[in-house]
Amino acid sequence: LSPLDKEQLQGLNAIRDFLKVRTSYDVLPLSFRLIVLDTELLIKKSLNILIQNSIVSAPLWDSHNARFAGILTSTDFINVIQYYCQFPDEMSKLEQFRLSSLRDIEKAIGAYPIETVSVHPSRPLYEACRRMLKTRARRIPLVDIDSETHKEMVVSVITQYRILKFIAVNNEHNTVLLKKTVRDVGLGSYTNLATARMGSPVLDVVHLMVDNNISCVPIVDGENRVLNVFEAVDVIPCIKGGAYDDLDNSVGEALCKRPDDSPGIYTCGEHDRLDSIFDTIRKSRVHRLIVVDDDNKLKGIISLSDILKYVLLSGVEDTSRWS
Ligand code: ADP
Repeated sequence: LSPLDKEQLQGLNAIRDFLKVRTSYDVLPLSFRLIVLDTELLIKKSLNILIQNSIVSAPLWDSHNARFAGILTSTDFINVIQYYCQFPDEMSKLEQFRLSSLRDIEKAIGAYPIETVSVHPSRPLYEACRRMLKTRARRIPLVDIDSETHKEMVVSVITQYRILKFIAVNNEHNTVLLKKTVRDVGLGSYTNLATARMGSPVLDVVHLMVDNNISCVPIVDGENRVLNVFEAVDVIPCIKGGAYDDLDNSVGEALCKRPDDSPGIYTCGEHDRLDSIFDTIRKSRVHRLIVVDDDNKLKGIISLSDILKYVLLSGVEDTSRWS
């Protein structure tokens, strides 16, 4: 191992040790609100609630059985859009669907149901990370048992974003050891990138996300220069009020519907070091990094799952232990 490799591994191991001694509880702020939606709610209304509260997902509660019932995310809305495309005559039915129908929608369109995993908040954070990588869940609900009623209780939701932020904020002394570049470690995806143009219909971009199982599509110009990024959460304002016809509108129009406090896009270069990527995560609301060259032309995409995977698994010989 070169001194650079050694230092890198030392930094990664220290972060892994940190994740083993911290729990999901540690990641939660001292005080927070949690919006939980009843599965009896109309899907249409749930959209308004998410938008009004500036959130993009919420845990679901089945009040008949007093049970946690999964988590509502932009993937569910993308499923609803696919349902609309496959069964255009059932528009009136779609209007009446409740959150409890989401599983039926999944079945009707033949979507692969996302595994509903949860973790106990006092388990090591490391375990939550492994679960996330294994199931490809971007967010995991923290579920506890109420000591009095012995019923399930949703405490909060932990996301890849929150975990990486927590690592970045509490490990500055370890992340400075990560001096290898994005290119050195091959962080992210660089081939067969799915992209679209400002004039592309939103629906085409939604299909790109579904077909490639990805949550963002860079929007480029004729020279492959990055103009913006369409994210899965951007579909939420597009279908507000049941305006499915608007999905024929262009990406450019859809991006204008983004909330004012939208974090914007973050870019980096292939020669940026991992420590600087962690600096960006520490300081900003980063949900992915778009890798560009000096002309702002698209080179690659680094998702939060790519970073989490690298931090947890790189240099670990026996990967079977992780599955
Ligand atoms: P996450 O799982 O963190 O939400 P994504 O679903 O966007 O992230 O990414 C899943 C995988 O697909 C990652 O390895 C990422 O690098 C890759 N990826 C993301 N967007 C694209 C794209 N537009 N084209 C090709 N690959 C992509």
